[in-house]
Amino acid sequence: MAYVIAEPCIDDRDQSCVSVCPVDCITADLSVDRKFYIDPDGCIDCGSCESACPNQAIFRADELPPAWAHFEWIDATWYRDPGAARQAVDGAAAAA
Ligand code: SF4
Repeated sequence: MAYVIAEPCIDDRDQSCVSVCPVDCITADLSVDRKFYIDPDGCIDCGSCESACPNQAIFRADELPPAWAHFEWIDATWYRDPGAARQAVDGAAAAA
């Protein structure tokens, strides 16, 4: 069960999570991405990022608020189809 970065990260990208992750599985291309993404295959479920985030944007996948449940798909998708993930982030930002 990986952790997931949800809507509050969009257009903020604080980066505190990146520096505390012990396995470097939080990534973004800052030239194009509007949030960071957690690699579900790399995450070891330590929870360090959740407590480091100043925006309360990070949740265990099974504890995501229902309105942000689709961010589990967005984070996982970014690692195989970043364009699709970015499109979904744009949609989530527009709906917020
Ligand atoms: Fe990295 Fe731990 Fe957060 Fe997973 S839970 S993304 S391993 S800091």
